[in-house]
Amino acid sequence: MDSLPERISRLSELAGDLWWVWHFSARDVFRVLDYQLWRATAHNPVRMLRLLPPERLEQAAEDPEFLALYDAAIAGLEAARAAHASWWTERFGETNHRTIAYFSAEFALHQSLPIYAGGLGVLAGDTCKEANDLGLPFVGVGFMYPQGYFHQHLSTDGWQLETYERLDWADAPTDPAIRSDGSPCVVAVPLGDRTVLAAVWQVQVGRVRLYLLDTDLEENAPWDRALSARLYGGNQETRIQQEIILGLGGVRALEAMGISPAVWHLNEGHAAFVVLQRIKQLLEQGSSFDQAVEEVRRTTVFTTHTPVAAGHDAFPFHLVETHLAGAWGTLGQYRERFMALGLYDNGGGPLFNMTALALRVSGAVNAVSRLHAQVTTRMWQPIWETASDAGPRVRAITNGVHVPTWVAPDLSKLFEKHLGFDWRERYEDPAFWDRVVEIPDAELWSVRRMLRTNLFAFVRERARQRWTQDRVSAAQVVAVGMLLDPDALTIGFARRFTGYKRPELIFSDPDRLARILGAAKRPVQIVFAGKAHPADDVGKGHLQRVFHRAVDPTFGGRIAFVDDYDLHVAHFLVQGCDVWLNNPRKPLEASGTSGMKAAMNGVPHLSIGDGWWAEGYNGSNGWLIEGRPATDDPAAVDVADADALYRLLEEQVVPAFYDRDRQDVPHRWLPIVREAIRSVVPRFSTRRMVKEYVESMYEPALQKVTTE
Ligand SMILES: *Cc1c(COP(=O)(O)O)cnc(C)c1O
Repeated sequence: MDSLPERISRLSELAGDLWWVWHFSARDVFRVLDYQLWRATAHNPVRMLRLLPPERLEQAAEDPEFLALYDAAIAGLEAARAAHASWWTERFGETNHRTIAYFSAEFALHQSLPIYAGGLGVLAGDTCKEANDLGLPFVGVGFMYPQGYFHQHLSTDGWQLETYERLDWADAPTDPAIRSDGSPCVVAVPLGDRTVLAAVWQVQVGRVRLYLLDTDLEENAPWDRALSARLYGGNQETRIQQEIILGLGGVRALEAMGISPAVWHLNEGHAAFVVLQRIKQLLEQGSSFDQAVEEVRRTTVFTTHTPVAAGHDAFPFHLVETHLAGAWGTLGQYRERFMALGLYDNGGGPLFNMTALALRVSGAVNAVSRLHAQVTTRMWQPIWETASDAGPRVRAITNGVHVPTWVAPDLSKLFEKHLGFDWRERYEDPAFWDRVVEIPDAELWSVRRMLRTNLFAFVRERARQRWTQDRVSAAQVVAVGMLLDPDALTIGFARRFTGYKRPELIFSDPDRLARILGAAKRPVQIVFAGKAHPADDVGKGHLQRVFHRAVDPTFGGRIAFVDDYDLHVAHFLVQGCDVWLNNPRKPLEASGTSGMKAAMNGVPHLSIGDGWWAEGYNGSNGWLIEGRPATDDPAAVDVADADALYRLLEEQVVPAFYDRDRQDVPHRWLPIVREAIRSVVPRFSTRRMVKEYVESMYEPALQKVTTE
């Protein structure tokens, strides 16, 4: 931004580094600058700086209060960027800066950079933030999708409609990556019988940098320009081409930027073609095929994220042959052997399976919860049985979330007051949280109520927008939550709409649910949110039926569906609800992370004992839905689980929430809130998680390198 007044000229730098996202001193600079615009842009400071009238900026440059905020934020940013002692330097010394390269098809860092669809992206984004906080030499590699993931709208009949908006680059915190010779970084990727160029963009997250590939260049053919346009937007043909660009192009981009990683982390199988490019390069340097595979295995780690078969990309061999035709080079003579590394028959005939490839060529593999590690080991047993050695053991590294990103500012202030100003440096210590009992009931409850109020202000503002700008029907205004009661017990359910997550479980017995929701002095309401995958008509059917419930007068306007779930909506929901519901069909939820975000904000989890909750539930930090059906027939399981869910609501959740003293404070409820915070913050943080990645996944590769 050239037009910024001299005194505050570094505002654009502050806006352009996503470090601001989890530092309140920096957020406040933009909030104070123009609160209306802050809200209207969904907290996008890059866009704000473009839209603000010069007079406002001039005024700010002379306002001592604003300048104090500004100076503090800039000082914070500088300190964060400067080389300093960190957990990493303590462990590996000041001089060990061997880079960890983290490949992922999506990164969710902030809503102003819409290059994510859901949980996988949130994990990648939170990992980058934590890598910065712990001082890891870390780069991310992914895709710049100019049209991002879709925006969700509902038809008058509740059917999901998808629209894609072209991202205005000027509004996103990205810049072209520049090579050391001053030229913009562009890499060439062989694709089929042609060469496709990918521009490289960079995103700054404190000291961590992300490189994003984008094929929308004039030099490319129109269909190649469109390749990187959308996340998960195309068919299998688009998908494999995207994955070739991510794998081959990503390795080349790092090389072009002068980075030679010591550890290559594949986050999900999408990025597994990284190993092809690396094997090829090692052959070019004179290795044999076996040596090359061994070297790649020594330095590659892989995280698998789902036990659902459809979540693992597998392509027919002819498709792989077609699109890799130009990529072989020196690897050509070992083509059969390379293809065998991806071969997997999942029951429907042999396919080239990206997860199988990653499993066979990674030295360390992890799943994202303890239960998921067991399921993964069983699921991929044939791979390990046919491997020459025993193959990698599947470690369990349970997911976590980035605490400073997800804990609400108001709650954070309460922690500062009662636990210490430095709570953000100490939250990993479980003993530290024992002091959460010192937070008085009245204060804790007042913050919980404020967060619920914020949620309803947000929901109503959206409803008004839909009504006035999008001209939706009156029924749709009801569906998005216009009739919700800001004082009623509010249950949140937000996740991708897909069969195994059973979004309709709570409607199994509509009359019983209507009685729970409509109880005269103890009303309950449910706020749903989530997208269905564009190709998943079954998921869209679930969503449509939830919409029909929301507009059904039987439920008294106590059910809402907030559309276009993204990071922004997620923040309001995980902070503002009272209870967070999750009822997947066990064991299909690998981990789940939204429940961790909620619990940290004092929103106890009401969930099936799947994913993280199988190890997170301790008897007093939330509730465990356990149907205990007589058979494992899915219908019987659903009935039993629904009954268990209703019973918990009727007998425990609702009575505890509404048991109030004269000042209207729920003394039976708040101990559960405290226990949720106490037990979840230290254990289910990315701080604990990233340290585990370093210690059990990265360190072996790093050590072998340093002793060579
Ligand atoms: C946290 C989060 C998710 C993942 O939540 P799950 O509980 O794992 O389903 C998905 N989308 C958004 C926007 C999130 O913030």
